[in-house]
Amino acid sequence: MTGSKLQSVRGMHDILPNETPLWQAVEAVLYQGLESYGYQQIRLPIVEKTELFKRSIGEVTDIVEKEMYTFTDRNGESLTLRPEGTAGCVRACIEHGLLRGANLRLWYQGPMFRHERPQKGRYRQFHQLGVETYGQPGPDIDAELILLNRYWWRALGIADKLELQINSLGTLEERRAYREELVAYFSTFEHALDDDSRRRLHTNPLRILDSKNPDMQALIEGAPKLIDYLGESSRAHFQGFVNQLDAVGVSYTFNPRLVRGLDYYCLTVFEWVTRELGAQGTVCAGGRYDTLVEQLGGKPTPASGFALGLERLMALLGDSPLARSNPPHLYMIRVGASAEKAGLIWAEKLRERLPGLRLQVHSGRGSFKSQFKKADKSGAMYALILGEEEAARQQVAVKPLREEGEQRTLDFDRLLDFLHSEFYSK
Ligand code: ATP
Ligand code: MG
Repeated sequence: MTGSKLQSVRGMHDILPNETPLWQAVEAVLYQGLESYGYQQIRLPIVEKTELFKRSIGEVTDIVEKEMYTFTDRNGESLTLRPEGTAGCVRACIEHGLLRGANLRLWYQGPMFRHERPQKGRYRQFHQLGVETYGQPGPDIDAELILLNRYWWRALGIADKLELQINSLGTLEERRAYREELVAYFSTFEHALDDDSRRRLHTNPLRILDSKNPDMQALIEGAPKLIDYLGESSRAHFQGFVNQLDAVGVSYTFNPRLVRGLDYYCLTVFEWVTRELGAQGTVCAGGRYDTLVEQLGGKPTPASGFALGLERLMALLGDSPLARSNPPHLYMIRVGASAEKAGLIWAEKLRERLPGLRLQVHSGRGSFKSQFKKADKSGAMYALILGEEEAARQQVAVKPLREEGEQRTLDFDRLLDFLHSEFYSK
């Protein structure tokens, strides 16, 4: 019986072997940066109670209103595939008492799920690397997050492709006052609002500022600016943040309309934006969220973090040399029963003696000619060749595949020396 072909869920993608070399190389750079700045990894479940996201992200946000993958499990409990990582991270830190006298710098990475309309740069399962810090109220940690980002962009060779946009959302009270002004302003133009914005006018008017509808831009341009409603201490925080960026030569654009899609942000917010990915141009975004820990039942704890969208980052790096895969160093060819056995033993010994050596052993039988074809196709630097004769003499022939050069026959110790000088001493 033949079955019909199954496909992956819409908006959820496989990351194929020709893509994983880029992912791995980029991840190595990201991890190195995190280590260099003193961040520790935390690993979190992918599923959380639905309640957690409702209480943290906010009931009237896009995510909670229409993007969550929510289901009832066999015990009748409402669970949700995480749409983002911050809520789960805060939940875990409270649950395990990590926040007492905290000065935490954490990171995590993994899939997130949002039921959005799939398009380039927007998927239903996507991956984020998230960074969260707890216990530090000052703007210096906000600036440190930006520096970590810049360190990454430089190491990846994309610093010139990303622009930093910053804003301050002030405190909850300041936003409340501003919100009234904003509603008053947009209400006088209610006829000109699109459907989404009209709906948001009384639920989440700040989100109107975030509208991507070109017809709305002139109206948004003329709206009152949140920054003008900030009190002294919020202004000082923002100024402190900006001063630190200036001190280390980070350039930025002040964007008074940057509000972010989640309710829990306050004070500093930022986005790294590129022009190279069309409408889905935000690669990395974050900010401060000083009230969330308390909102989720913990002691008041200042917090600041960001999430980096890995698919968008990879899309920016598509033509980078990092995208190249690592072909094997060696491809082993064996012909004849005794050569097969000797080769197997050699291969195991080589892998043991030379960690990091990439040695692919031909599988299945075949003539020298057909095995050579496979060796060539593998991209390996050298073929290791064993016939009955070599096996009998406990030797192996080494033939360069990528450049002209003579074939030589070596015993095991000479082969080790050769591989050392070829692959380990450069
Ligand atoms: P957007 O405005 O693009 O919808 P967002 O404000 O919803 O983004 P965040 O929740 O701040 O995004 O997530 C941080 C980052 O994660 C984004 O800047 C983006 O790089 C990535 N991201 C968010 N949603 C998706 C998605 N559906 N597909 C791919 N990447 C995403
Ligand atoms: Mg979104």
